[in-house]
Amino acid sequence: MRTTVGIIGAGPAGLLLARLLHNAGIDSVVLESRDRAYVEHRQRAGILEQGTVDVLRAAGAGERMDREGLRHDGIELRFDRRRHRVDFPALTGGRSVMVYAQTEVCKDLIALQLKEGGPLLFEAEALAVEGAGGDAPRVRFRHEGREDVLECSYVVGCDGSWGVARKAIPAELTRVFERTYPFGWLGILADVPPSHDELVYARHDRGFALLSMRSPVVSRLYLQVPEGTDAEAWADEEIWDELERRFETGDGWRLERGPITQKSVTPMRSHVHEPMRYGRLFLAGDAAHIVPPTGAKGLNLAVGDVVTFARALTYEQETGSAELLDAYSETCLRRVWQAERFSYEMTTLLHRPADATPFEDRIQLARLARIAGARAAEQDLAEGYTGFPLE
Ligand SMILES: Cc1cc2nc3c(=O)[nH]c(=O)nc-3n(C[C@H](O)[C@H](O)[C@H](O)COP(=O)(O)OP(=O)(O)OC[C@H]3O[C@@H](n4cnc5c(N)ncnc54)[C@H](O)[C@@H]3O)c2cc1C
Repeated sequence: MRTTVGIIGAGPAGLLLARLLHNAGIDSVVLESRDRAYVEHRQRAGILEQGTVDVLRAAGAGERMDREGLRHDGIELRFDRRRHRVDFPALTGGRSVMVYAQTEVCKDLIALQLKEGGPLLFEAEALAVEGAGGDAPRVRFRHEGREDVLECSYVVGCDGSWGVARKAIPAELTRVFERTYPFGWLGILADVPPSHDELVYARHDRGFALLSMRSPVVSRLYLQVPEGTDAEAWADEEIWDELERRFETGDGWRLERGPITQKSVTPMRSHVHEPMRYGRLFLAGDAAHIVPPTGAKGLNLAVGDVVTFARALTYEQETGSAELLDAYSETCLRRVWQAERFSYEMTTLLHRPADATPFEDRIQLARLARIAGARAAEQDLAEGYTGFPLE
């Protein structure tokens, strides 16, 4: 089997890349280790930055998002039983975000790919990338019980944080930057209309909580829990009681409860793999970097990477110059580190480590009060949340 771009992984990064290349007249093959149902139902991100929304529309993948997605013009910060709304358009010159689940983005892109694009093979597990440093990289993979080889001009590893692509980059050329947080998020999906029409980020002495939504009738809520917590150790009513405590305000606001349909725990870590390119192998999305979900940046960074790659390869095909491909890693990493910084700041602003001192508590509250009281601080948060520009 032969193609111009071999793409490993059919998460948002791999699927969108295949679409962008198809639109540019460049052929690709996508290899995905899981089956279609698994990829379409894996609960993850839900917030699309303005730039991501614009890219999906321009790629011809925005039709259902525009019909069913929920445009959000702000978030609420909750601390000390007070509420403060951050108004995105007023602070950023008109920018907003869209609530549209990653599952739906993937469904839309898969449908388009199967209808119009190149091959997308499910249950096709990449085993290794070979010859990445030369002119003819290959992906060895297993599909329908037998091993095969995909010969490529370029390989893009969009295979998430546990993928195989980055193992093809020699260890002596690699630097990894990492931080693990001593807590995680217990996330639930519940069949109940959201109790607030915008996301609520709550800082509480008992820990962080987030109220979010998937649709007008499905809520997505999170609780900060100690690292290593088993989701099943929490009974449903215990979860609702704890959410209620952490979201409590002084103005009688109420949290509506409903049946919990799913619960899971997500660890929190920051991770950056440098460089994001070796020879003809490029890394994109979670394969190269992880952010804690507090800043809602993971999916949006993945989109930024593949847009950068598609532009660079299109430029190379049109002009013969590899200038943009050569700059890929540095271009992406500038944006990645801004998102890493933002996600780290949001995480440390809102989460309470178990060993937090009274001094640290007061500093955290002072940081929140500064955002609520000083336009410059609030604007910085709004600009980061709605997204850093693509170069
Ligand atoms: C609970 C949770 C909440 C989140 N919330 C947000 C949010 O609100 N906003 C946000 O922007 N981000 C959020 N994220 C992060 C976001 O979901 C990820 O950043 C995003 O999925 C990255 O996309 P990706 O395509 O790079 O990787 P992935 O989605 O991980 O896709 C990688 C794909 O590669 C496949 N694969 C792996 N190995 C192989 C192999 N050897 N061969 C073939 N295929 C392989 C996998 O099966 C997978 O389909 C959240 C993440 C989690 C876990």
